[in-house]
Amino acid sequence: MANSRGAASDEERLKRLNALELTARRLEPLPAERQRIASETLSYVDAFIESLPGEKAYAGGTCQGLRNVKVTESAKPFGEVFSYLRDEMNRVGINSSSGSCFGYIPGGGIWTSAIADFVAAATNRYAGVYFSSPGAVMIENQMVRWLCSLVGYPDGAHGNLTSGGSIANLTATQAARDAAGIDSTNVRKSVVYATAHVHHCIDKALHTTGLGEAVRRVVPMDSRYRMDPAALGKLLAGDRDSGLKPFLVIATAGTTDTGAVDPLDAVADHCEAHRAWFHVDAAYGGFFLLVDELRGLFKGIERSDSLVMDPHKGMFLPFGSGAVLLREGGKLTASYVHDAPYMQDALGFDEISPADAGPELSRHFRGLRMWLPLHIHGVAPFRANLEEKMLLCRHFVDGVRALGFETGPDPELSIGLFRYPHAAAGAFNRKLLEALQDDGRCAVLNFRSHLAEIGLALDVVRKGLEHLADTRHREPDTPRKP
Ligand SMILES: *Cc1c(COP(=O)(O)O)cnc(C)c1O
Repeated sequence: MANSRGAASDEERLKRLNALELTARRLEPLPAERQRIASETLSYVDAFIESLPGEKAYAGGTCQGLRNVKVTESAKPFGEVFSYLRDEMNRVGINSSSGSCFGYIPGGGIWTSAIADFVAAATNRYAGVYFSSPGAVMIENQMVRWLCSLVGYPDGAHGNLTSGGSIANLTATQAARDAAGIDSTNVRKSVVYATAHVHHCIDKALHTTGLGEAVRRVVPMDSRYRMDPAALGKLLAGDRDSGLKPFLVIATAGTTDTGAVDPLDAVADHCEAHRAWFHVDAAYGGFFLLVDELRGLFKGIERSDSLVMDPHKGMFLPFGSGAVLLREGGKLTASYVHDAPYMQDALGFDEISPADAGPELSRHFRGLRMWLPLHIHGVAPFRANLEEKMLLCRHFVDGVRALGFETGPDPELSIGLFRYPHAAAGAFNRKLLEALQDDGRCAVLNFRSHLAEIGLALDVVRKGLEHLADTRHREPDTPRKP
């Protein structure tokens, strides 16, 4: 009998189908197997968390063993595969889960958020389009609205949850470009303003959005590494007078280098006067809005046209969580809505679909990793963590100062700077910092960092100082720039 596509007979096709089904079904482990894998995984994670207090924040190595793990047609036992993670991957590098991690802006990784990720992935609701999962999109948008209210944005503000601050900045940059009508005909007359401490992801964002040819102005900073608004005003006026178009001013609310918060209200005045788009990169600092004592530092943030916050920093979520917000949400969708024929079902609902407010279509249901922890813990422990980190940083800075270190400007948020002031301590400082695995900068933002961890860090500094002090006179004298 004739049949399509080469199978010799119906009978053979059915035989083949049965054989394929047997193998294909292995992707859905049976309940007992699922239980076993889940319980082994949870035990592993428990052991990992319990071991953290004794673990180093950094371990050298290259994971050579992982290189030999080849992808094979046949299955490997779960225990064997998992051992590569336990014994290789997780042993080496910066342990950003550790409460003793202060060198970089640390990641968090709260457990309840990881559980939410698992649920989001296992149920795999399609959170890109309202029509597809109204509930998932509602959860995403509720998180966006909560962030908008935290900032003090008015009704009509909107945004999107992204994979991180870099993509959030990229998303805002495109919206700013389109709102200002910048294209190949005028890009070389458009000017972008930021200080030297702006995050390098802004350069990537400008490049990606075709703004690499825009004019760049480096706005001077004051002695505390904050944007000098008067200098900004002069640059804006000068550019306008010479026929250029002041386009985009990027302020940072919590720089990665020093934690400085640019004077947002004064910057907003200048942006309004020159009709420039006012963007705030608050990827690191934004969640300090939750701390009453610090709210005043952010005055004017509600006047920004767009801003970025990183829940995987200030909310201690696992990596993979940024947020972009626009004061006028319509400017975001104006830049991103595309109605392809297959998207017809997606249009015309009350909730804006994430796919219409950013570059992604299919994406992880990432709102859940923020929604679940916020609801099952409440806001209070997040707020407490942030105030605690602010105070811990001050405690550390006072501690190293008492040990004889010079310290930078008083920390505004939770980053402190220090160096040893010996007249020609260049090489000495370098050795000391090598010993500390640090760059003379202490960034406190892990939810597992408490008084004990800061005490340990101060002990390490004290011991490093003692250990190196007797070799100091033998080092060549090389002055070190501040
Ligand atoms: C971390 C950070 C970024 C980059 O964010 P990612 O989430 O790492 O992509 C941008 N700006 C500032 C101020 C940051 O601290």
